[in-house]
Amino acid sequence: MDCIFCKIAAGEIPSKKAYEDEQVLAFYDIDPQAPVHILIIPKRHIASASEITSENSGIVAHIYEVVAKLAKDLKLEKGYRVVTNTGEDGGQTVGHMHFHLLAGRSLAWPPG
Ligand code: AMP
Ligand code: ZN
Repeated sequence: MDCIFCKIAAGEIPSKKAYEDEQVLAFYDIDPQAPVHILIIPKRHIASASEITSENSGIVAHIYEVVAKLAKDLKLEKGYRVVTNTGEDGGQTVGHMHFHLLAGRSLAWPPG
């Protein structure tokens, strides 16, 4: 499958790693939108958050455990935002589910 994030997960495309375990990889976004901008992905291909079912939803809980660990390790005491753009109107550009972890500046709400 021609999926850029599957290739990053497999180490076929290099990335700046922030965290890795058997199930997930966290790496720095190539086009950061905040001083801290990390992407957390399941290693197993899931096209988008719309593909989450009772069979695979455990990965979402695990990803949020990783978010909390990264926030602690990176000392994001002032807060952060986790975003999962989904589908065309959601602004998803890579068809492998990912969670943006954004921090290091005050983030506007609502998003544009
Ligand atoms: P989204 O637009 O929500 O689908 O997010 C995709 C994100 O992937 C964007 O923020 C891109 O900057 C990022 N991205 C695309 N290719 C790479 C890459 N090779 N390494 C790191 N981040 C990437
Ligand atoms: Zn993929």
